[in-house]
Amino acid sequence: MPATRELVLVGGGHSHVQVLKSFGMKPVDGCRLTLVARDVETPYSGMLPGFIAGHYGHDACHIDVMKLAGFAGARLIHVEAVGIDRVARTVLLRDRPPLRYDLLSLDIGSTPRAHDVPGAAEYATAVKPVDRLAGRWSALVERVSASDRPLDLVVVGGGAAGVELALSIDHRFRGERFRPRVALVTRGRMLAGHTDRVRAAFQRVVRGRGVTVHEDAEVVRVEPDAVICADGRRVRFDEALWAVQAGAAPWLRDTGLHLDDKGFVAVDATLRSVNDSRIFAVGDVASVLPYPREKAGVFAVRQGPPLTANLRRALAGEALQPFKPQTNFLKLITTGDEYAVASRGKLSAEGRWVWRLKDWIDRRFMEKFQNVPAMASGMAPAPAGEMRCAGCGAKVPAGLLQRVLERLKPEGLDSTDDAAVLKPPADGRLMVQTVDFFRAFTSDPYLFGRIAANHALGDIYAMGAEPQTALAIACVPPAGAGIVEDDLFQMLRGGLDVLEEAGARLVGGHSAEGPEHALGFTITGAVAADRILRKGGLKAGDELVLTKPLGTGALLAAAMRGEAKARWIVAALASMRQSSENAARCLSEHGATACTDVTGFGLIGHLMEMARASRVDIRIDPGLIPALAGAEEMLAAGVRSSLHPGNAEIGHCVGGDVPDLLFDPQTAGGLLAGIPGLSLSGEGEAPATGMSQASACVEALRALGYGHAAVIGIAEPMAGAEPMIRLGNIPTVQAVTVTQVPCGTEA
Ligand SMILES: Cc1cc2nc3c(=O)[nH]c(=O)nc-3n(C[C@H](O)[C@H](O)[C@H](O)COP(=O)(O)OP(=O)(O)OC[C@H]3O[C@@H](n4cnc5c(N)ncnc54)[C@H](O)[C@@H]3O)c2cc1C
Repeated sequence: MPATRELVLVGGGHSHVQVLKSFGMKPVDGCRLTLVARDVETPYSGMLPGFIAGHYGHDACHIDVMKLAGFAGARLIHVEAVGIDRVARTVLLRDRPPLRYDLLSLDIGSTPRAHDVPGAAEYATAVKPVDRLAGRWSALVERVSASDRPLDLVVVGGGAAGVELALSIDHRFRGERFRPRVALVTRGRMLAGHTDRVRAAFQRVVRGRGVTVHEDAEVVRVEPDAVICADGRRVRFDEALWAVQAGAAPWLRDTGLHLDDKGFVAVDATLRSVNDSRIFAVGDVASVLPYPREKAGVFAVRQGPPLTANLRRALAGEALQPFKPQTNFLKLITTGDEYAVASRGKLSAEGRWVWRLKDWIDRRFMEKFQNVPAMASGMAPAPAGEMRCAGCGAKVPAGLLQRVLERLKPEGLDSTDDAAVLKPPADGRLMVQTVDFFRAFTSDPYLFGRIAANHALGDIYAMGAEPQTALAIACVPPAGAGIVEDDLFQMLRGGLDVLEEAGARLVGGHSAEGPEHALGFTITGAVAADRILRKGGLKAGDELVLTKPLGTGALLAAAMRGEAKARWIVAALASMRQSSENAARCLSEHGATACTDVTGFGLIGHLMEMARASRVDIRIDPGLIPALAGAEEMLAAGVRSSLHPGNAEIGHCVGGDVPDLLFDPQTAGGLLAGIPGLSLSGEGEAPATGMSQASACVEALRALGYGHAAVIGIAEPMAGAEPMIRLGNIPTVQAVTVTQVPCGTEA
């Protein structure tokens, strides 16, 4: 069945990961699932104290929602939601167009309330979002190790989370030369909601460990180096962690949804908003009116199955079922040193066995989300079974296209004519033209549009030209009209945003139904004749500068096989999104003699093109070539893009041991340019003193945000009858050791 309804999950919290798993195992016909997630790795809160204490590594306690979304056949939109337009039925997203929904579910958690205490937001680190805490934590670990005195670490908030955190921090730094002093500051009593026995157990532990506890100490102000309490107490800190009661996302107030008095979404026992039947909310962000409970991950976990069942019922138009959460639940509170206290109602117990029980429960929960079978993580597959026309019968309907164009409002597009009318540049510059087109490799149509346009612009920048106009060609699979319209809009909006930033006008295009999402652009640019950069301008002695790291091909292949870590893909996508406009300007300012963009044929393929066109040999130093995180690991594990073997066919032109990374095809890769460098009088010339022009160029590129830019090689006079690529150290870096293999005939 073509997708006709859209279920959008906002937030990859503890309930939504279960919805994704369930939909992956049993999809709903005709429903397209989308996850909007600010973070692609959801920390499992139960294991967070263990992570802080050093018992778990990062991957052990984070759920990779990118993989999970792939398994569920869901689109992943990696961005923060900042509002809901309930009339238009769209989720508002940060820095990009809204996303439509038919049914929406919120599982976005909470943040400790900081706005009512001056200075808290500025000077203390909130322990939620927990993913942000994890990032801050590594910085804190480094700070403690580098310190030449014991630091003062203060945790504000004496609930279970605050106490576990204080004790876990203390445990983590036990072996340090200057062990930090840990203090806990809390408004009432520590672990106020627990029995005297549980509290006594923790009083004993904190005393034994030397953690100072300030009870009845309501923090009213936070200064850069101290928390100030209502009774005038001042507790000094080097780092403060804020673990007080949960607060809700402020934007919920503008949605018109009924909220409780603390700003959380009011839902009934079916987990559905009390005033909008299309919206569900679970976890910390929800306030279940008939069953008020504290904010705890355990409730978010328990709500997963009833939420899944009710979303399925809502999609099928069936009556929803209420869910009654337990009144009491077993709390397993750790002391940081593989010891824990169990508390349930009036009952309690403690010991190492309690920690082992908690560890077993937590790992069992996590196992459900780790090692999910790999699924292609592209956009929604085309529906099978239905006859679809080809030829012009596969065009998207005119009315739908018109609506999309009205929403896009591209400046300079006159859609009434058959072809765009272009004027050659009046200033005598020449026109350059290029075309690029490819299938979607991400389920996020807006991001795909941005990268497709960026990729196409790369050719223009490589020629030293300025983009002027563009024609788009877009393919979308058949689906419900609303879904096709939104997909087309999102893809073109992404492309158009990039084109507009680049100063290019979209002047026409063509759109059609196809088996999968695909997008391409024909771009026209202008360049003065004496500023054109070609592949053939390299001179012996020019140093080769690469502006972006390699590895997108292997990483996208790994993502499709479910083997890439989400954070690797996030970094790869960020690299693909980065425009080469500033890089091109910088290369030109540093006297670039030749340039190309590194794309499908991999670095070696493009180097070979330059060598042949310039009639020079090129020596590159594999040790200097920047790689995206995870790319070399994946290549070493045998994960390659399907184009890789074709690219590797020219390996014999280079010789022996060419690292696989050099054959990896790049999407929206960096620019590769020759910059005048050392004048080579002979093999193995001594390093130049001072900074070469290419090194200055690399510094400038890094300052412009191309953090991996590097000098990777040098052009040399041709040693034989044909140009060749050699691998070896380059003279600016070390003495020369060269593997020299003559290049054969054309590959
Ligand atoms: C140190 C610490 C220890 C804790 N230990 C425990 C424990 O042992 N047991 C327990 O039951 N509870 C514990 N808690 C409480 C627990 O963390 C929360 O109750 C739980 O995380 C709530 O789950 P959730 O699914 O509502 O939201 P979360 O787990 O916070 O997930 C929300 C997700 O939504 C995403 N998101 C947020 N805003 C947006 C947005 N605008 N757009 C898109 N995505 C968004 C976030 O990236 C996140 O992935 C602990 C809390 C802390 C701070």
